[in-house]
Formats: sequence, C-alpha cells, structure tokens
Amino acid sequence: MIHDTDIAIVGAGAAGIAAATTLRSRGIGCVVIEAAGRVGGRAHTTSGPETAHHWFDHGATWLHHAERNPLTAIARARGTGIIESDRQRTWRLQIGGRAADAGEHARYHAAWARFEATVRPRGAEDPDIAFSAAMDTMRDDPWAATIELWEAAQIAAADPARLSLRDWLVNDLDGSNLILEGGIGHFLAGLAAEAGPIALNTPATAIDWSDGARITTPRGVVRARGAIVTVSTGVLQHLAFSPALPVSHQDAIANLPMGLLTKLAFPARGADRLGLGPTMSIRQQARPGMPAMGLFAWPYGAPYMQSFIGGPTAWALAAAGPAATDAFARGQIATLLGADALKALGPALVTPWATDPWHRGSYAFATVGHAGARAVLGTPVGDGRLVFAGEAVRDDGLAGTIGGAWASGVDAAQGMIEALRGGEGGVSDRQCHPHAQAGPV
Ligand SMILES: Cc1cc2nc3c(=O)[nH]c(=O)nc-3n(C[C@H](O)[C@H](O)[C@H](O)COP(=O)(O)OP(=O)(O)OC[C@H]3O[C@@H](n4cnc5c(N)ncnc54)[C@H](O)[C@@H]3O)c2cc1C
Repeated sequence: MIHDTDIAIVGAGAAGIAAATTLRSRGIGCVVIEAAGRVGGRAHTTSGPETAHHWFDHGATWLHHAERNPLTAIARARGTGIIESDRQRTWRLQIGGRAADAGEHARYHAAWARFEATVRPRGAEDPDIAFSAAMDTMRDDPWAATIELWEAAQIAAADPARLSLRDWLVNDLDGSNLILEGGIGHFLAGLAAEAGPIALNTPATAIDWSDGARITTPRGVVRARGAIVTVSTGVLQHLAFSPALPVSHQDAIANLPMGLLTKLAFPARGADRLGLGPTMSIRQQARPGMPAMGLFAWPYGAPYMQSFIGGPTAWALAAAGPAATDAFARGQIATLLGADALKALGPALVTPWATDPWHRGSYAFATVGHAGARAVLGTPVGDGRLVFAGEAVRDDGLAGTIGGAWASGVDAAQGMIEALRGGEGGVSDRQCHPHAQAGPV
C-alpha cells in the first residue's frame, strides 16, 4: 500500500522523535518508520535479572554538556528525577591489582597537564593528524597509553590511529553530566509516546528522492514531499538511495565510521559490594599494546558493576562473540579486584551494539582530515527535501551525544518546513494520518 504524507521520518531514536515532535507541534503531517520493535534507538533502558532488577541504560547514560543540552530543560520541565553525576562520582587509580601511591598519582596528574599543554593546542592550530600521532610527543610518559585509552578508545569509542585530532577537539566533552532517574531510554520512550504514532518493525529498505521522497519498506511504501533520515552512519552505508547520494555525502558517510563502546553489567549475587563505595570509577594504568577496560562500581547505588570496553578492543571482542567479551571483562575484574571478586558477581549482560543491524556500532567519529564531514552530512540535498539528522551531523560539541541527536532532529524539521514552504503548494496543516498508528504504513 502507498501512504502519502508531508514528511517521512526514518528512525525513532532521539533525532527522529525530536523531528516528529517539532513537525507535529506545528501541525505538519508526517509518518515515522522505525526498523526495530521499540523506540529510542541507542537510548535503551531495561530492568531484569541480569541487572539485579535495577534499570540499566544499554546505550546513552549521561546528559553531557548539561548546561547546553536541549534535553536538560525538557527533563526539568517534566519533573524527571535528575542525579548530578559529577557530585556523586568518586574514582580510584590502580596499577594492576593495587592502588596507585601518592607519587604515581602526582605523575598521573602531571601527564594530564602535559597532555593539555602539548596535545590539545596541536588540534587547534596544525594540520589535522590522528589522535595517536598527537600522543607521540609524550610516548615516553608511562601514563600516555592511559590517556589515549580514556579519551580516544573509550569516550570517543574510536581507533586512536584513525580518529581525527580536530574532531576529538571540537567534540571534547565539557560541562556537567546528569543522570536521569529510571534511565534515559525510559525517558526518551516517554517523549516518543507524546510525539504521536510511530510505525514499528518497519525498516526502510530503499529511499528514492528523485521527486519528493518514496521510501520502500516490507510493509508498504511511504510517499512524502520530503524525508528526514536519522539512522546511524553504520546503517547509512547499507541503505540504497536512488538516485545515488552526491559524492560529497557518500564521502562524508565513509569518513564518519562508527566507533564502538561495549557496556557490560555484572549483577551482585548478594549483599557483598567488594568494599567499594557506590558510583566509583576504577581507572587503571593502561600499557601500550595491552587492552584494558574501565570499571564503574555500583553506579548511583545500582546493584551491579558496569564496565566499558571501547575502540578496537571492543570490535575485536564483538567479532569473537559475547562470551569472549564476558571472559575478557572477568579477567580484567580479577586483575583489578582479585579473582575472589568474581564470586560476588552474576552472569553479565553484554550490549550487542556492534552486531545490531539497526545501529552497527555506538556512535560516529571523523577520520583524519575529515572533521568537516559532519557538516557535509548535515547539509540538505535535493532542494532541502532529503535531510540527514542524528548524532553524527553535529559539530558543536554535542557530536555523538543524545542531546546532539535531539538538536539535529529539531533543526532538520525546521529546515524541512522552510524547504517545503519554498516549494509548490506549501506544507499542509493536517496531522499524521491515523493509518500510521496501526503499524503498517
Ligand atoms: C554504549 C553507548 C553509550 C553511550 N553513552 C552516551 C552517553 O552517556 N551520553 C550521550 O549523550 N550519548 C551516549 N551515547 C550516544 C547516544 O546514545 C546516541 O548519540 C544517540 O542516542 C543517537 O540518536 P540518533 O537519533 O542519532 O540515532 P539512533 O538512536 O540510532 O536512532 C536511529 C533509529 O533508526 C532506526 N533504524 C535503523 N535502521 C533503520 C531503517 N533501515 N529503517 C527505519 N529505521 C531504522 C534504529 O533502530 C534507531 O531507532 C552512547 C551510545 C552507546 C551505544
């Protein structure tokens, strides 16, 4: 069947929900199609035995840059419980199984100061280079590999040898970090429910943008005057466009590959909290060539340990399967806390972002020389009737984040309204067709 609408939105993650909310608040017709059987995309909260029946965010967790994150004001207005993460978080520095001593702490802080003084200015002024190449100036420092692991492989979820230093610099996280009670995926699902109908289990398989937009799905065709496409760059690489996208956009997609951050949750078997207070990050000294992970004990009082494995190590483990990821993480916990610690922990939940066909990674990073790819991807094509939105198109410090994804959806919707106003007939003021509520488009 063919469904006609003003604007088709592909994907019901933060960007798609924001676009739908914006359009519908202006009375503009739209159909939202979502490939998965749930909304939220990379914001996904569950609660089950594998997380000791406490909520757990598989993807986005923090509202970064809280002061200018558009979701902060929305959460406050809705009365959502907000935890000020930075006030609660404590951390411990370890070298293998022991705590670092005072001298090692001092050298660690000195290494960060050196990083700030030598690496950061290079990104701003010199030709773009890889993050790892920028670190070469301080390879003699025993903490260089730790800084590289933290900034590039874990926070940017990227391969340090491919990550553009300029992209890292522009998108370096700043400001304060908030946690939403009940989980950010749960919060976004609430916003989606208010945004109106969303057709689940309806993947776009082809997008024809030769005349307006014609989106093929296994459940029918959506014909619209314009389309906002919010899928990840990993998914974009596999989506068929007709005519082919401009070379500029093809290059932008190729130069914004997906990074990977795999999260694990290890539920407490009983009351034993291993002598660790709540919300404690354990940061370990990384060694060159030796994979390492971050550990976050009992976050905000949750009865589970969380661990983070990022970048090339995460991809290699994902290729080997969840059991390999679990085994690696258990080995790291045994090193950091002692083998007995494992007795206090149940079977892990391993997030499958690498193999999930609707995401294919965690968030995008720009490769060396291509920090501008985000702006290119965000530039509308086809007289503004085909627009890409989502975390990958931001280059304002919110790249890779749920706040950036939300802002991009709002911007795409506003841009689309302008584009269609400029065209013949203007946009209509009818609401989404009730057909879209039922599932089939
Ligand atoms: C492990 C992890 C940790 C993270 N931590 C944080 C954090 O702490 N703070 C933060 O701000 N951000 C974090 N992020 C990033 C954040 O989750 C994302 O930037 C944001 O959620 C992306 O939203 P989006 O709308 O751009 O894309 P998505 O959420 O990916 O939405 C796109 C939607 O499109 C759907 N889709 C895919 N293919 C198709 C198709 N063919 N047809 C129709 N629909 C399709 C997908 O199912 C998805 O629902 C994290 C991500 C991960 C994975």
